[in-house]
Amino acid sequence: MAADSLDQIVSLCKRRGFIFPGSEIYGGLQGTFDYGPLGVELKNNLKRLWWKHNVYERDDMEGIETALLTNKYVLRYSGHEAGFVDPLIDNRTTKKRFRFDHLLRDQSLDILDAIAREFGTEPTSDHEGLSMTLLKDPAKAEVALKAAKCVDPTDGKPGDWTQPRTFNMMFKTQVGPVADDESFAYLRPETAQGMFVNFKNVLDSTNRKLPFGIAQQGKSFRNEITPRNFLFRVRELEQMEIEYFVMPGEDERIHEEWIEDHMNWWVEEVGLDREKLNLHEHAKEKLSHYSKRTVDIMYNFPSLGFDELEGIANRTDWDLGSHSRDQANLPLSPNTAEKAMKNEHSTEKLTYFDQPNNKHIVPFVVEPAAGVDRGVLAALCEAYCEEELEGGDKRTVLKLKPALSPIKVAVLPLAKNKPDIVAKAKEIKKMLQADSGMRVVYDDSAAIGKLYRRQDEVGTPFCVTVDFDTLGLGKDGDTSLTDTVTVRDRDTMQQERIRIDELEAYVRKRLR
Ligand code: ATP
Repeated sequence: MAADSLDQIVSLCKRRGFIFPGSEIYGGLQGTFDYGPLGVELKNNLKRLWWKHNVYERDDMEGIETALLTNKYVLRYSGHEAGFVDPLIDNRTTKKRFRFDHLLRDQSLDILDAIAREFGTEPTSDHEGLSMTLLKDPAKAEVALKAAKCVDPTDGKPGDWTQPRTFNMMFKTQVGPVADDESFAYLRPETAQGMFVNFKNVLDSTNRKLPFGIAQQGKSFRNEITPRNFLFRVRELEQMEIEYFVMPGEDERIHEEWIEDHMNWWVEEVGLDREKLNLHEHAKEKLSHYSKRTVDIMYNFPSLGFDELEGIANRTDWDLGSHSRDQANLPLSPNTAEKAMKNEHSTEKLTYFDQPNNKHIVPFVVEPAAGVDRGVLAALCEAYCEEELEGGDKRTVLKLKPALSPIKVAVLPLAKNKPDIVAKAKEIKKMLQADSGMRVVYDDSAAIGKLYRRQDEVGTPFCVTVDFDTLGLGKDGDTSLTDTVTVRDRDTMQQERIRIDELEAYVRKRLR
């Protein structure tokens, strides 16, 4: 049986050391999580798979890692200072704060209709659209919410609502010892801007020709109004993003290619069930200021239903154009030319010299942007399985793709009080570990059955057991199994006898 609620995943993660609440012994810090011993392995494995697919296996990509502390002008000209906002609202009675569109989403259809009627707009089940409409006249919205008896989901009673307003989600921080109004920087809200402001550096140092891309993985920070649903919505998150630069005119076709490629990646490499994935096309009127088209890859999370795993946007020439000086003399697309702020601070023109046509152009950008934490959560939800075994026993097993498993092999001695068996098991652990780049563990802390269950629960694909036969001490003097071990498969629980000198090759083949 698969996971039917996020609680099962949260509980496994805490119990087995995947993920802990951040700053837990001081009561936590909302929207932060710490990755434990197994969590960090799983997360690194996911990031490695992504990097391999998107950087190493292609011939048109470069990777970078840019600073988290970001000059305020980067986020001014990107449009984040003005536009990276969420709508919020407070209930004066319960003192609770909500993301306004989420509050509308949690109302019954009757109340939603009443809100629209009282405000004087068409009834709709589109809570995001309705929140945008109401924000156009916050005073009138306050009256409408009161008249429609909009309910506070925390106590189920009509709330005493403030006017809805917008809230900028970027974290500011002081840089240097002098605290004045100008000496602040932002913690980046996305990794993307690091790629745009380094466009020229990468282009000049690699001599790339269009189309080519820049990839980056790393932390981003968003002061989410209501962080919730475990790793799904956090304030300190990690992203894996690509900015793929193309000739204007080729953007729409290439956008489609990335959607298909990444949909397949989540299925084939991360192991998500295609049936639990779908595509969500953003409505034109709800697109971000930079986007011509955005398609989200959605995963059906237990407890949450379908929600965003990755967004793939056609960001046009917005970012390169907006970060360039002398915009009036650049061939910008109409949206960017009209809406981008005149740039008075940039020292560069982020253009590309199109040799065949002998002119400078501003490339368009296709951006596949995925969340590492949401990827980890999806992989855990997909892999979680409770099984009833013959004889009525139960086991929890994480059927992770072997490439994602935190531990690849556990080497276990059948008897921990037999020094020769222990020594052999430790020797095999060392042999498998050497130069392998994977985590192999030795464990003798319980009886063999219990050790198998523990490894099943954290998704270890193989358990190698050293027993009396390995040492040539088989029953009735049988030495036919000397220098062999048993290898137990996590999913089938079948055991195979393998020669020690063939073990490494056996494991490697099956980890692929
Ligand atoms: P949402 O609509 O869920 O707030 P978004 O559309 O703002 O997300 P993007 O800006 O497209 O998200 O960011 C790219 C990816 O980063 C998302 O698809 C998601 O996987 C991840 N992400 C964004 N915000 C968060 C968050 N607060 N917590 C965890 N992951 C996040």
